[in-house]
Amino acid sequence: MAEPPVRPILTLKRGADGLFIEPDDSDTPENQIIWAHNRERWSKKLFYADELGCGDGHTVDPLGRYNCGRCNQVDDASCLWVKIARVDRQAGSCKAWETIRASDGEMVLRRVTPEQAAYGVAVNGIGFGCKRCPFAKKAKHVDSEGRPLWCGEGGFHVTPNACCEVNGAPVKKAAKGTVRGELERAYDEYS
Ligand code: SF4
Ligand code: SF4
Repeated sequence: MAEPPVRPILTLKRGADGLFIEPDDSDTPENQIIWAHNRERWSKKLFYADELGCGDGHTVDPLGRYNCGRCNQVDDASCLWVKIARVDRQAGSCKAWETIRASDGEMVLRRVTPEQAAYGVAVNGIGFGCKRCPFAKKAKHVDSEGRPLWCGEGGFHVTPNACCEVNGAPVKKAAKGTVRGELERAYDEYS
């Protein structure tokens, strides 16, 4: 009988801030394959998407704000997807943000709680995006597709206007039970 496949468990050094450090040789083809896989994982599990083809392109904000007022699911001051009394159209957002398209009709569902959606209102009054996330820093090497930032949360290159569920831009009121909190606990266990 054939043995079951064995997948490797990769390691990457973390800095004092707990974030993954971009290796000096991050631009080798071998390493870029690893970053691409890390990025794909993030897109499937944590809604990462960018304008270079990773994740769902309908969830990429060309302005990198991801604010409710420019989301396909906003309905005046409320939301068709999240069960919430009011959204902040300027600086509110959640992991279900989508571009506005006439071909994408929505329904009144109010299916998830703000906590499940990781809803938050950015203190900066503008919104989110990797360029406002404290977990992103200028990459040592721009990747071969042109991503100029390194995400220390997931270990891969990102674009400034991309985003994901764990964006760390300060929010006015942190929602309990968000993925961010769970990740911090997981990091504590492995550090
Ligand atoms: S709460 Fe989420 S789904 Fe609703 S309008 Fe805001 S970004 Fe869109
Ligand atoms: S930089 Fe921040 S928002 Fe962008 S993918 Fe990483 S954790 Fe998510």
